Amino acid sequence: MHFKNKKVIITGASAGIGKEIATSFVKHGADIAIFATNQDRLNKTLKELEDVKVDSNQKIITKKVDVSKYLEVESSIKEVLDQFGHIDILINNAGITKDNLLMKMTEADFDRVIDINLKSIYNTCKAIIRPMMKNKKGKILNISSIVALIGNPGQTNYAASKAGMIGFTKSLAKEVGSRNICVNAIAPGFIETKMTKDLPENVKDQMLKNIPLKRFGSAKDVANLAMFLASDDADYITGQTIVIDGGMV
Ligand code: NAP
Repeated sequence: MHFKNKKVIITGASAGIGKEIATSFVKHGADIAIFATNQDRLNKTLKELEDVKVDSNQKIITKKVDVSKYLEVESSIKEVLDQFGHIDILINNAGITKDNLLMKMTEADFDRVIDINLKSIYNTCKAIIRPMMKNKKGKILNISSIVALIGNPGQTNYAASKAGMIGFTKSLAKEVGSRNICVNAIAPGFIETKMTKDLPENVKDQMLKNIPLKRFGSAKDVANLAMFLASDDADYITGQTIVIDGGMV
């Protein structure tokens, strides 16, 4: 799989799964732009990505963007388009959790999770879809979760946001298929990142018992799938949600 000269935007790529996807694209020769909110983490990630470039002409752009804010997203995507000329691949990966049982969940925590996980994909896709249609080819990947499919106590906000991403994915796939744009979702199970690191050990032990492959997933496992779906090898796959969970669901 070669991504030389491909132009890629990845949200939430300063940590975890997004950073691993960004690293894979850089190692395969792509020009990438990454969005996140913490400038220090973005700077550190930029240095790490510069170190794995395979071509000195490769471009890596970092932008401090809160993906839940439409105007910020729109202007950042415009700036990236000005530099790259077009975008081939958009990966909507930024996401957060604010877990609590519904009876204790605040309205602010419900809204924040919906805004960052779900509203964000409206923001990025809306800003990118016309230029991508003009380009007559594109790939959009939305990082959902298996909790969208099976639910999880304490995650009504997160599960709703991730299920919303799947409906959005299927609908947009039907809207833009005739323009040769593929839109898919990835639904990871338990992946070892900052997001899952602080779960209590007894919860992790219980989860492990339900994973037939008997290990948690790595960010690299998800990045490998993202690379395939973003590649020309996956040109006839659209509107799908691919589960990557060691067999858990
Ligand atoms: P992570 O390690 O916590 O990384 C999240 C990334 O999103 C960071 O780069 C973070 O950077 C960025 N981000 C957070 N809020 C943002 C905002 N408002 N605007 C822009 N960027 C923002 O999470 P992860 O585990 O890699 O998860 C990545 C995606 O996979 C998420 O959508 C998550 O829901 C999904 N997922 C993860 C798992 C898992 O087990 N880890 C399972 C299923 C699905 P800043 O903080 O600097 O903004």
